[in-house]
Amino acid sequence: MTVPRGRDRFHRQKLNSWIGEVGQERLAGASVLITRVGGLGGPLAQSLVLAGVGRLVIHHEGTLDPEDTHRMVLMDPGRVGEPRAPQAAESLRRINPDLRLEYSEARITPDSARAALGTCDLAIGAAPTFEERLTLNSAARATGKPYLDAAMCGDEGQVMLVHPTEGACLECLLAEPPPWPVDFPVVAPVSATIGNLAAWIALRVLTTAADLPWGRYIHFDFPRLALTHYTVPRRTNCGTCLD
Ligand SMILES: [Zn+2]
Repeated sequence: MTVPRGRDRFHRQKLNSWIGEVGQERLAGASVLITRVGGLGGPLAQSLVLAGVGRLVIHHEGTLDPEDTHRMVLMDPGRVGEPRAPQAAESLRRINPDLRLEYSEARITPDSARAALGTCDLAIGAAPTFEERLTLNSAARATGKPYLDAAMCGDEGQVMLVHPTEGACLECLLAEPPPWPVDFPVVAPVSATIGNLAAWIALRVLTTAADLPWGRYIHFDFPRLALTHYTVPRRTNCGTCLD
């Protein structure tokens, strides 16, 4: 590939004033933990790797089902029945061969989350279960790392950025995981849009951009084309914030 003199693959990206040379170097030196790289976390991870984030640690359990393939962009429909995490890892390494990537086929636990966060700058929860997202939220507060939560259902999605020490956390918003069906509705444009909204916020965190939406609940209602957000109040009896 011929690249004009003085340009590298991130030339157009660095034209964003909040990235530039310094931000690009920060992205190259950054490590991010992501739980689940399916319909939402897959496009999210893809965008982080395209942007030049240097290292990812991903947790994704299970094998590929035929019904996953309408939304999981990192998976190969020709490899139904095979473990999902290695397929995601191969796709991400193809995007950037310089990527440093570790993956686990095990579901995240409090211990594995804390251990991984010892070497990561940011935790991102893109899991379809509240338990995994709350586990990552607590581990991030315990290790003093920022946590970015992203989720969707049907035609709506939400993102929340949790500060390492201050303001509300995800457990302030969700004291107990609500009853939730395994088979909730998913259409890929919604999961990919919410994943990429979260990826944009992650890049802003990793480049230490100004005006980060700490402690804000961001909700996207697709049929109404409405993006709303508000600051989540800290809950006085939140187990994570009390620790
Ligand atoms: Zn809390």
